[in-house]
Amino acid sequence: MNTLDIVQLLPDAIANQIAAGEVVQRPASVVKELLENAIDAEASSIQVIIQDAGKTMIQVVDDGIGMSPTDARMCFERHATSKIRNSDDLFRIRTMGFRGEALASIAAVAQVEMKTARKTDEVGTLIRMEGSALKTQESISWTTGTSIQVKNLFYNVPARRNFLKSNPVEMKHIIDEFQRVALANPEVAFTLHHNQTEIFNLPSGKLVRRITDIFGKSYREQLAFCQEDTSLLSIRGYVGKPEFAKKTRGEQFFFVNNRYIKSSYLHHAIVSAFDGTLPEGSHPFYTLFIEIDPAHIDINIHPTKSEIKFDDEKSVYAIIMAAVRKAIGVYNLGSSIDFDSDVNFLRPQSTPRPVSTSSWGDEKSRDRFSGSHSVQDWVKLFEGLDVKEEPTPGFADIPKETQQSFTVASRANQLASERIIQPATEASYFQLFNRYIISQTPEETLMIDQRAAWERILYEQYRNMLTRRTGGSQQLLFPKTVHLSASDMQLVQDTRASIRSLGFEIDDIGSNSIIIRGVPSDLPDENEQDMFEELLDQIRQNYTELKLSRPDGLIRSLAKRFAPKYNVKMSSQEIKEMLNRLFDTSDPNRTPGGDPIIIRLTLEKLAGIFKSNYRNQ
Ligand code: ADP
Ligand code: MG
Repeated sequence: MNTLDIVQLLPDAIANQIAAGEVVQRPASVVKELLENAIDAEASSIQVIIQDAGKTMIQVVDDGIGMSPTDARMCFERHATSKIRNSDDLFRIRTMGFRGEALASIAAVAQVEMKTARKTDEVGTLIRMEGSALKTQESISWTTGTSIQVKNLFYNVPARRNFLKSNPVEMKHIIDEFQRVALANPEVAFTLHHNQTEIFNLPSGKLVRRITDIFGKSYREQLAFCQEDTSLLSIRGYVGKPEFAKKTRGEQFFFVNNRYIKSSYLHHAIVSAFDGTLPEGSHPFYTLFIEIDPAHIDINIHPTKSEIKFDDEKSVYAIIMAAVRKAIGVYNLGSSIDFDSDVNFLRPQSTPRPVSTSSWGDEKSRDRFSGSHSVQDWVKLFEGLDVKEEPTPGFADIPKETQQSFTVASRANQLASERIIQPATEASYFQLFNRYIISQTPEETLMIDQRAAWERILYEQYRNMLTRRTGGSQQLLFPKTVHLSASDMQLVQDTRASIRSLGFEIDDIGSNSIIIRGVPSDLPDENEQDMFEELLDQIRQNYTELKLSRPDGLIRSLAKRFAPKYNVKMSSQEIKEMLNRLFDTSDPNRTPGGDPIIIRLTLEKLAGIFKSNYRNQ
């Protein structure tokens, strides 16, 4: 060899290590690659097991097609792939992987143990790799599928290892990758364990189910279905209704041919479709899937394949925007009605959004604050009655725009009294269907929606707690340990002060678990864990940045949630207490969401009803 020639081929191990730098940036990258391989292997159930945020161990176990002994060895070679045979294949890629780089890269920077077997195999194969070198290959007994365990990531690249972030940060990345793959494959069952704690357990099912299993049951009501088929592409999935949009990003998922894609261009298309219905600086939830002929896209422009190029970007943009617009058009019901401007107490913090006078939108927005149906039914009884009510003294003082939002409130609202009603001193009460309170005074009959009343009472109570930052707490006789998902745990950390002021006494006990020692007094007798998870659901929905800057949404949802349900038998003493508390609130007439709490029936009105009945006969 001529000593002047200095160019040499890199040894494989080093080449792999360099390649690994692109593919494997952090534990989450390993999780992503292993998950995608399991999906490509047609697994129907996938388990992910993590130790120390993936720094010491990442394991993915699937029940997919498995590998032959030869393939098991081959797959750790660079550019070893079963997915591409010729260059034409590159233009019709349907699998997640195709570069044949992932396993080689991972094996270059970690200790890997793989167990695999195909359905027809009598024995399976065990392979151990360390820094690209084969350490063990032997036959083992193993059922169909593949388990790949990656230990001590970057053990041989200290610079990289030191570069890793704290466990919560690395775990957050892992959860992000896990969620993306799980969303894209709802028909596949997944579990995720971190340090022996189950973080996700997602049974196979429909996309809606997957979304609610990941983000919480409360997401069900905010989803609008989106579907559009064109010759260029088809799109389907769900977008969140605008009023549920959050201040923080992170729940926007866009998939092209089932691959998670980051595209600010397409994000823009989606957000534009919301067209001003989104509160300033908030981001709508979406999980959208685009199917397009792979010949129209280039997914090869990024080593981790999360970016994409369309050959006809403008059309894609237009189609997506139209599809999303259609989806939220159908569901965008009365979001323009601002129930936030609750007249009697809200500081003039925000100018009310434009008020829609469409009765259709109005009806639907009431649905959103459901619970009022029965009241509406009642109100139907009085339709046609000529009800003239004097506005409350305070009503005239409130800004004009806010008054307007009353005028568009449904007929039920119009009919319900605007006056502050004081309970009569010598009133008698009884309960109807365990749902409504009838209170009879010499002058009139008050009909009170029990649940709505509690909603108002609790709302004001929580509001006081949050502003005074002191919650009335009720110690639990048996403190309750609750395991939380990693992301919920983060939420707890971020909103601890608010949680505490609401009356929850909690302590961390490590590994994503907390112990609940106290709960807000006045809560219904329920499972504390469910209740706490509900609280987190509500916080998540109303969460804004690192603090709850607009706690109103949160306490409103909480009050709604914790207001004792219908069908609660109340003693007359309890009724009396409830009514006393109700009339102590700033607006006993309606719930924070604007639903009527009280309907007044005077002798005149009653007479009116009976007269009209006479006429009908
Ligand atoms: P790629 O996915 O790009 O083909 P990888 O390095 O991720 O490259 O995987 C190499 C090959 O190993 C795959 O093409 C596949 O044949 C095989 N393989 C990897 N993981 C699995 C698995 N979980 N089950 C079956 N085969 C697998
Ligand atoms: Mg792969």
